[in-house]
Amino acid sequence: MISLNFDQKAGKPLKVLCIGAHSDDIEIGCGGTILQLAERYSEVEFHWAVFSAIGVRESEAQHAASLFAGQRLKGQLLKSFQDGFMPFAGADVKAVFEQELKNISPDLIFTHNRNDAHQDHRLLSQLAWNTFRSHLILEYEIPKYDGDMGQPNCFVPLTPEGAAKKVQFLMEAFQSQRTKHWFDESTFQALMRLRGMECNAPSGYAEAFYGRKLTL
Ligand SMILES: [Zn+2]
Repeated sequence: MISLNFDQKAGKPLKVLCIGAHSDDIEIGCGGTILQLAERYSEVEFHWAVFSAIGVRESEAQHAASLFAGQRLKGQLLKSFQDGFMPFAGADVKAVFEQELKNISPDLIFTHNRNDAHQDHRLLSQLAWNTFRSHLILEYEIPKYDGDMGQPNCFVPLTPEGAAKKVQFLMEAFQSQRTKHWFDESTFQALMRLRGMECNAPSGYAEAFYGRKLTL
């Protein structure tokens, strides 16, 4: 299968906006792809927007963004909306998109899947599509108890090193989550292995996304 690459113009960095409801969503959903973009493109900049990052979760979000994006991190917006309650604070959440994210004018947006079982995730996906009307949006997936894994249609094959680094960084950055029964190396490796199998990735590992509207 041929691969598509981003058309990067000299002197104009590829601007990537990563949107996550909670402080580990971006890294779980597209951490491997972020590492790969940073390695492959000489000029790329990342903007992080995390809507619920309170207390230790705030410092974990800061640490994780620095691990995954490094020097390419140009902005990190950390908000303190209550986990699970975002749809009930919808007007305030939407205002963040309108007043703080729209102006970034990104080339590529990573956000949640619109069919995600978590209500906070669904809201941010809807608002991403409401706000960005002529942009490339890729929706990432988050494994969870609810069992909402679907059939993504865009795959990013990862290098063995990239897949390993993603898991290592997740475990290092999000210490507070390690008591959760699903937050371990095998969950993250298994999902990347399945997606790698589905796209015949040379390394065996990939991340997958929903690309609902693409221009070629
Ligand atoms: Zn989440």
